[in-house]
Amino acid sequence: MHKHHVALAVDIGGSKVEIAAIAAAGTARTETARYAVPFGADGVADAQGLIDLLAPYVEGVRQLEGHVDGIGLSVCGNIERETGLAVLVPNLHWHNLPFGRMVADRFGLPVYAATDVRLAAQAEALWGAGRGIRNFAWVTIGTGCGAYLFLDGRIYGGAHGFAGNFGHYTIDEADGYPCGCGRRGCLETYVAGPAIARAGQAAAEEGRSLLLRQLAAGGRVTTSMVFRAEAQGDPAAQAIIQEVVHRLAVSLGGLVTILDLELLILGGGVIHANPSLAARIDRSIRTYLMTAESVRDLRVVTESLPNSALYGAASEVFLRTGLLEL
Ligand SMILES: [Zn+2]
Repeated sequence: MHKHHVALAVDIGGSKVEIAAIAAAGTARTETARYAVPFGADGVADAQGLIDLLAPYVEGVRQLEGHVDGIGLSVCGNIERETGLAVLVPNLHWHNLPFGRMVADRFGLPVYAATDVRLAAQAEALWGAGRGIRNFAWVTIGTGCGAYLFLDGRIYGGAHGFAGNFGHYTIDEADGYPCGCGRRGCLETYVAGPAIARAGQAAAEEGRSLLLRQLAAGGRVTTSMVFRAEAQGDPAAQAIIQEVVHRLAVSLGGLVTILDLELLILGGGVIHANPSLAARIDRSIRTYLMTAESVRDLRVVTESLPNSALYGAASEVFLRTGLLEL
């Protein structure tokens, strides 16, 4: 059914953009194209450059057999679903940018935009690990950190549609590291990729890890270097990742305890960079669950779709046009 309907799905993360044509059955109709997000000299993501990147793929999807229902945009921040207005996107440094309208004006197709974590949760509920589950959270740990909730069988948007800023709850407003959202000491500044790289850089500079210094070879320590050093038994790298696991287990354990969730679906670049991370969070989180039922029943899995936010961008098109229902 619906096999002749297709959407162009676009997922704009803090560092990467992915583009694919996806059918209403939740299946890819093209390979996924990947690019680095273009940034201007001012450090702001280049919206016009991004739209230029999309142009050949919009042409491509028009050539496919079937009806093009629209363009779905997944964006790593707060975006108004009704208007496509990017209200606050910390990692792209966008404030009140009418990105959805800019894309629609350029290509003359309907555009449906929403925050990436919402869309990822939606795709998992519709086509993935969340199918048939009434209470779960989608959690992403990559360049940023977020979690979106699916409660009582429905996606939970919150009062302004901006639920899901799990990474921006404050841990230490006084001494914490500055966050892209403009505040200090958010959870994200402890557990996301840049935080891991920063901790690794400090370990190299302070002489606590010769291995990280060697891996960096005079450059900056990256997140993947910290994972590599950890796998090779480097104590400083192991301590960094252990701290990330601990912080995530405590904070996600709180979320499960408040909401009695039955499933956590983990995704994002940091989770994909280290296959053991989800299992370690799964073990560690049991300590922070209040009820025996949660300890017994909570499942922690990794995302079941190749990129849930990208598939979610397509799902948004089909749900908003009424072709599909959750
Ligand atoms: Zn923040």
